[in-house]
Amino acid sequence: CGIIGYTGHLDALKVLLDGLEQLEYRGYDSAGIALLSGKNDDRLLIKKAGPVSTLKDACSTLNVEAHCGIGHTRWATHGGVNDTNAHPHIAGKVTLIHNGIIENYHNLIERFDFRGSLVSETDTEVAARVLDYYYEGDPYEAIEKTIREITGSYAFCIMFEDIPDQIFCVRNVSPMVAAHMEDGSFVASDVTAIIPYTNRYFVIPEYQIVTLKRDGIFVQDLDGNQVEPEILEVNWNV
Ligand code: GLU
Repeated sequence: CGIIGYTGHLDALKVLLDGLEQLEYRGYDSAGIALLSGKNDDRLLIKKAGPVSTLKDACSTLNVEAHCGIGHTRWATHGGVNDTNAHPHIAGKVTLIHNGIIENYHNLIERFDFRGSLVSETDTEVAARVLDYYYEGDPYEAIEKTIREITGSYAFCIMFEDIPDQIFCVRNVSPMVAAHMEDGSFVASDVTAIIPYTNRYFVIPEYQIVTLKRDGIFVQDLDGNQVEPEILEVNWNV
């Protein structure tokens, strides 16, 4: 239900946990984060049913230096409320969070023969597995092929284990905004999570692939053409 992603020079764990707290008002039943440390492709995943404070407690003993990661608050639609069904979901090199509903996930399980390999009960994990199936080193090709397969509503934030410091985003219907500033690049399900850092942001256009890098955000359509996003400004002087 809530999404936050960050890559930059700040402490990613703190940015993600702060962001998830900002998004708590949206309502949720579980929360989780994944960090890419960039060292030896290290990937860290922590996810818990319950409030963000439970996730925070679970992270309190961590001693990580990570500058890229994604965080999620889940409102369960497919699969019960438990740690395994919480996001992020991992499939091979893919780590993914999702807001929305993958409507044809049953068909995809049959078509790709995933029945024996799923670890959660979620529609989301099926999307992660399709993406991993198509991923052969080119994130854009894999994302494009995946979204041609799935129907439903989605905002995805994706990290690939072998592409440190980058986050890839794509959406249909479910909202997602992004912002870049000196501290790095942010993505979130709404501006409330980004406002502590900047008031300039853009709405991610549907069916376009957004790449968050430390030094900038790049948008391209499904044919690979660069797109210039329209920057908006929040002015909440109320
Ligand atoms: N359909 C997904 C699930 O149940 C995502 C729900 C959400 O938007 O939080 O895990």
